[in-house]
Amino acid sequence: MARRGKPKLAVWKFASCDGCQLSLLDCEDELLAVAGAVEIANFYEASRAVVKGPYDLSLVEGSITTPHDAERIHAVRRASKFLVTIGACATAGGIQALRNFKDVKEFISIVYARPEYIETLGKSTAIADHVHVDFELRGCPIDKHQLVEVISAYLHGRKPNTPAHSVCVECKRRGTVCVMVAQGVPCLGPVTQAGCGAICPAYARGCYGCFGPKETPNTVSLSGWWGHLGVSQPDLMRAFRGFNAYAEAFRKESERHEK
Ligand code: SF4
Ligand code: SF4
Repeated sequence: MARRGKPKLAVWKFASCDGCQLSLLDCEDELLAVAGAVEIANFYEASRAVVKGPYDLSLVEGSITTPHDAERIHAVRRASKFLVTIGACATAGGIQALRNFKDVKEFISIVYARPEYIETLGKSTAIADHVHVDFELRGCPIDKHQLVEVISAYLHGRKPNTPAHSVCVECKRRGTVCVMVAQGVPCLGPVTQAGCGAICPAYARGCYGCFGPKETPNTVSLSGWWGHLGVSQPDLMRAFRGFNAYAEAFRKESERHEK
Protein backbone atom coordinates (compact mmCIF):
# COMPACT_ATOMS: atom_id res chain seq x y z
CA MET A 1 0.00 0.00 0.00
CA ALA A 2 1.40 3.42 -0.91
CA ARG A 3 2.46 5.58 2.04
CA ARG A 4 0.60 8.86 2.42
CA GLY A 5 2.68 11.81 3.62
CA LYS A 6 6.12 11.80 5.18
CA PRO A 7 7.21 9.37 7.93
CA LYS A 8 6.49 10.76 11.39
CA LEU A 9 9.40 11.37 13.77
CA ALA A 10 8.80 11.78 17.51
CA VAL A 11 11.33 12.73 20.20
CA TRP A 12 10.57 11.80 23.82
CA LYS A 13 12.21 12.94 27.03
CA PHE A 14 12.56 10.94 30.24
CA ALA A 15 15.07 11.63 33.09
CA SER A 16 17.86 13.52 31.32
CA CYS A 17 19.50 16.89 30.75
CA ASP A 18 18.13 17.40 27.18
CA GLY A 19 21.66 17.43 25.74
CA CYS A 20 21.03 14.57 23.32
CA GLN A 21 17.84 16.19 21.99
CA LEU A 22 19.87 19.35 21.47
CA SER A 23 22.26 17.32 19.30
CA LEU A 24 19.40 17.01 16.82
CA LEU A 25 18.85 20.78 16.79
CA ASP A 26 22.63 21.21 16.52
CA CYS A 27 22.58 19.35 13.20
CA GLU A 28 21.95 22.69 11.44
CA ASP A 29 22.43 21.91 7.70
CA GLU A 30 21.55 18.24 8.17
CA LEU A 31 18.46 19.24 10.16
CA LEU A 32 16.97 20.87 7.07
CA ALA A 33 17.42 17.59 5.19
CA VAL A 34 15.90 15.64 8.10
CA ALA A 35 12.98 18.08 8.30
CA GLY A 36 12.50 17.66 4.54
CA ALA A 37 12.44 13.87 4.78
CA VAL A 38 10.20 13.46 7.86
CA GLU A 39 7.33 15.14 9.60
CA ILE A 40 8.60 16.17 13.03
CA ALA A 41 5.46 15.19 14.85
CA ASN A 42 6.42 15.41 18.51
CA PHE A 43 9.50 17.31 19.67
CA TYR A 44 8.91 19.72 22.56
CA GLU A 45 12.48 21.01 22.43
CA ALA A 46 11.68 22.45 18.98
CA SER A 47 7.92 23.05 18.94
CA ARG A 48 4.84 22.79 21.16
CA ALA A 49 2.79 21.59 18.17
CA VAL A 50 2.07 17.89 18.44
CA VAL A 51 0.80 15.59 15.70
CA LYS A 52 -0.97 12.49 16.99
CA GLY A 53 0.66 9.09 16.59
CA PRO A 54 1.35 6.41 15.63
CA TYR A 55 4.94 7.38 14.79
CA ASP A 56 7.30 5.75 12.31
CA LEU A 57 10.40 6.49 14.38
CA SER A 58 10.68 7.49 18.03
CA LEU A 59 13.91 8.79 19.53
CA VAL A 60 13.90 8.35 23.30
CA GLU A 61 16.21 10.33 25.57
CA GLY A 62 16.53 9.74 29.32
CA SER A 63 16.25 6.95 31.86
CA ILE A 64 13.34 5.52 33.83
CA THR A 65 13.36 6.90 37.39
CA THR A 66 9.71 7.25 38.42
CA PRO A 67 6.65 4.97 38.51
CA HIS A 68 4.90 7.36 36.09
CA ASP A 69 7.71 7.11 33.54
CA ALA A 70 7.79 3.32 33.91
CA GLU A 71 4.20 3.36 32.59
CA ARG A 72 4.68 6.17 30.05
CA ILE A 73 7.44 4.33 28.18
CA HIS A 74 4.99 1.51 27.35
CA ALA A 75 2.64 4.05 25.74
CA VAL A 76 5.57 5.42 23.70
CA ARG A 77 6.49 1.88 22.61
CA ARG A 78 2.91 1.11 21.56
CA ALA A 79 2.78 4.31 19.47
CA SER A 80 6.12 3.68 17.71
CA LYS A 81 7.00 1.45 14.77
CA PHE A 82 10.73 1.81 15.53
CA LEU A 83 12.09 2.97 18.89
CA VAL A 84 15.71 4.16 19.15
CA THR A 85 17.24 5.18 22.46
CA ILE A 86 19.75 8.04 22.39
CA GLY A 87 22.46 8.84 24.93
CA ALA A 88 23.94 7.41 28.12
CA CYS A 89 20.78 8.01 30.20
CA ALA A 90 18.51 6.08 27.84
CA THR A 91 21.00 3.31 27.06
CA ALA A 92 22.58 2.80 30.51
CA GLY A 93 20.66 4.79 33.15
CA GLY A 94 22.95 7.85 32.97
CA ILE A 95 24.90 9.61 35.70
CA GLN A 96 21.72 9.45 37.83
CA ALA A 97 22.27 5.66 38.01
CA LEU A 98 24.98 6.31 40.61
CA ARG A 99 22.08 6.11 43.06
CA ASN A 100 21.67 2.43 42.10
CA PHE A 101 24.72 1.59 44.20
CA LYS A 102 23.22 3.14 47.36
CA ASP A 103 19.94 3.47 49.25
CA VAL A 104 17.90 6.10 47.42
CA LYS A 105 15.64 6.62 50.47
CA GLU A 106 18.64 7.83 52.42
CA PHE A 107 19.48 10.38 49.68
CA ILE A 108 15.88 11.65 49.65
CA SER A 109 15.86 12.11 53.42
CA ILE A 110 19.05 14.20 53.23
CA VAL A 111 18.44 16.23 50.06
CA TYR A 112 14.76 17.22 50.26
CA ALA A 113 13.07 19.34 52.91
CA ARG A 114 9.81 17.38 52.41
CA PRO A 115 10.83 13.82 51.41
CA GLU A 116 7.19 12.71 51.52
CA TYR A 117 6.54 14.66 48.28
CA ILE A 118 9.14 12.66 46.34
CA GLU A 119 7.92 9.70 44.33
CA THR A 120 10.83 7.88 42.75
CA LEU A 121 12.08 4.40 41.95
CA GLY A 122 15.01 2.83 43.77
CA LYS A 123 17.03 2.63 40.55
CA SER A 124 17.59 4.63 37.37
CA THR A 125 17.41 2.17 34.49
CA ALA A 126 17.85 2.04 30.72
CA ILE A 127 14.81 2.09 28.44
CA ALA A 128 15.69 -1.42 27.19
CA ASP A 129 15.08 -2.73 30.72
CA HIS A 130 11.40 -1.84 30.26
CA VAL A 131 10.43 -2.20 26.58
CA HIS A 132 11.83 -3.61 23.34
CA VAL A 133 14.35 -1.20 21.80
CA ASP A 134 15.23 -1.43 18.10
CA PHE A 135 18.60 0.34 18.36
CA GLU A 136 20.73 1.99 21.05
CA LEU A 137 22.82 5.05 20.12
CA ARG A 138 25.51 5.68 22.72
CA GLY A 139 27.26 8.83 23.89
CA CYS A 140 27.03 11.63 26.45
CA PRO A 141 25.98 13.46 24.47
CA ILE A 142 25.46 11.51 21.26
CA ASP A 143 27.35 12.41 18.11
CA LYS A 144 25.13 14.38 15.72
CA HIS A 145 26.53 12.67 12.62
CA GLN A 146 25.72 9.26 14.10
CA LEU A 147 22.21 10.52 14.90
CA VAL A 148 21.64 11.59 11.29
CA GLU A 149 22.97 8.19 10.15
CA VAL A 150 20.50 6.36 12.45
CA ILE A 151 17.53 8.44 11.27
CA SER A 152 18.56 7.96 7.65
CA ALA A 153 18.98 4.19 8.15
CA TYR A 154 15.48 3.76 9.55
CA LEU A 155 13.95 5.93 6.82
CA HIS A 156 15.57 3.67 4.21
CA GLY A 157 14.88 0.37 5.97
CA ARG A 158 18.51 -0.58 6.65
CA LYS A 159 20.69 -1.22 9.69
CA PRO A 160 22.48 1.88 11.08
CA ASN A 161 26.18 1.93 10.25
CA THR A 162 27.77 2.88 13.58
CA PRO A 163 31.03 1.42 14.93
CA ALA A 164 31.21 -1.25 17.64
CA HIS A 165 35.01 -0.98 17.96
CA SER A 166 36.96 0.99 20.56
CA VAL A 167 38.09 4.61 20.79
CA CYS A 168 41.66 3.32 20.27
CA VAL A 169 40.84 2.63 16.61
CA GLU A 170 39.80 6.28 16.21
CA CYS A 171 43.10 7.39 17.77
CA LYS A 172 45.01 5.36 15.21
CA ARG A 173 42.89 6.73 12.36
CA ARG A 174 43.56 10.36 13.29
CA GLY A 175 47.23 9.72 14.09
CA THR A 176 47.02 10.56 17.79
CA VAL A 177 49.92 9.28 19.86
CA CYS A 178 48.56 7.07 22.65
CA VAL A 179 48.46 9.08 25.90
CA MET A 180 48.52 5.91 28.00
CA VAL A 181 51.61 4.41 26.34
CA ALA A 182 53.53 7.67 25.74
CA GLN A 183 52.60 9.65 28.86
CA GLY A 184 51.27 7.12 31.34
CA VAL A 185 47.83 8.84 31.41
CA PRO A 186 45.06 6.38 32.42
CA CYS A 187 42.60 6.04 29.52
CA LEU A 188 39.32 4.11 29.17
CA GLY A 189 39.59 4.18 25.36
CA PRO A 190 40.41 0.47 24.94
CA VAL A 191 37.05 -0.54 26.47
CA THR A 192 34.94 2.39 25.22
CA GLN A 193 32.84 2.41 22.07
CA ALA A 194 34.01 4.69 19.27
CA GLY A 195 31.91 7.54 17.94
CA CYS A 196 33.49 10.74 19.24
CA GLY A 197 36.54 10.71 16.97
CA ALA A 198 38.83 10.16 20.00
CA ILE A 199 38.64 13.82 20.91
CA CYS A 200 40.00 13.56 24.47
CA PRO A 201 43.30 11.79 23.64
CA ALA A 202 43.74 14.34 20.82
CA TYR A 203 43.91 16.96 23.60
CA ALA A 204 46.34 14.84 25.67
CA ARG A 205 43.83 13.52 28.17
CA GLY A 206 42.50 10.04 28.81
CA CYS A 207 39.08 8.92 27.68
CA TYR A 208 36.59 8.68 30.53
CA GLY A 209 34.15 6.40 28.77
CA CYS A 210 31.26 8.66 27.79
CA PHE A 211 30.26 6.42 24.86
CA GLY A 212 29.92 3.39 27.15
CA PRO A 213 31.36 -0.11 26.78
CA LYS A 214 32.46 -1.32 23.36
CA GLU A 215 31.53 -4.76 22.11
CA THR A 216 33.20 -7.43 24.33
CA PRO A 217 35.39 -5.03 26.38
CA ASN A 218 38.30 -6.54 28.34
CA THR A 219 37.86 -4.37 31.43
CA VAL A 220 39.83 -6.73 33.68
CA SER A 221 42.93 -6.42 31.51
CA LEU A 222 42.61 -2.62 31.30
CA SER A 223 42.27 -2.35 35.09
CA GLY A 224 45.49 -4.36 35.37
CA TRP A 225 47.28 -1.79 33.19
CA TRP A 226 45.83 1.09 35.22
CA GLY A 227 47.20 -0.68 38.30
CA HIS A 228 50.69 -0.65 36.72
CA LEU A 229 50.24 3.12 36.26
CA GLY A 230 49.65 3.46 40.01
CA VAL A 231 45.87 3.92 39.98
CA SER A 232 44.34 2.84 43.31
CA GLN A 233 41.36 0.48 43.73
CA PRO A 234 38.96 3.30 44.82
CA ASP A 235 40.01 5.40 41.81
CA LEU A 236 39.49 2.42 39.50
CA MET A 237 36.01 1.96 40.93
CA ARG A 238 35.23 5.66 40.36
CA ALA A 239 36.64 5.57 36.80
CA PHE A 240 34.07 2.97 35.79
CA ARG A 241 31.28 4.90 37.56
CA GLY A 242 30.80 7.79 35.17
CA PHE A 243 27.91 8.49 32.80
CA ASN A 244 27.68 4.79 31.95
CA ALA A 245 28.12 3.44 35.48
CA TYR A 246 25.19 1.03 35.14
CA ALA A 247 26.11 -0.36 31.72
CA GLU A 248 26.73 -3.99 32.60
CA ALA A 249 30.44 -4.22 31.72
CA PHE A 250 31.32 -1.00 33.54
CA ARG A 251 29.10 -1.83 36.52
CA LYS A 252 30.67 -5.25 37.02
CA GLU A 253 34.20 -3.87 36.72
CA SER A 254 33.48 -1.07 39.20
CA GLU A 255 32.09 -3.63 41.66
CA ARG A 256 35.32 -5.63 41.42
CA HIS A 257 37.17 -2.64 42.86
CA GLU A 258 34.63 -1.84 45.58
CA LYS A 259 35.89 -2.45 49.07
S1 SF4 B 1 45.01 7.28 23.98
FE1 SF4 B 1 43.46 5.94 24.87
S2 SF4 B 1 41.98 5.65 23.24
FE2 SF4 B 1 43.84 6.43 22.27
S3 SF4 B 1 44.99 4.59 21.66
FE3 SF4 B 1 45.69 5.17 23.72
S4 SF4 B 1 44.47 3.94 25.12
FE4 SF4 B 1 43.42 3.94 23.13
S1 SF4 C 1 35.51 10.64 27.05
FE1 SF4 C 1 36.17 9.09 25.55
S2 SF4 C 1 34.31 8.62 24.40
FE2 SF4 C 1 33.95 10.56 25.47
S3 SF4 C 1 34.54 12.21 24.03
FE3 SF4 C 1 36.35 11.76 25.29
S4 SF4 C 1 37.48 10.20 24.11
FE4 SF4 C 1 35.44 10.25 23.29
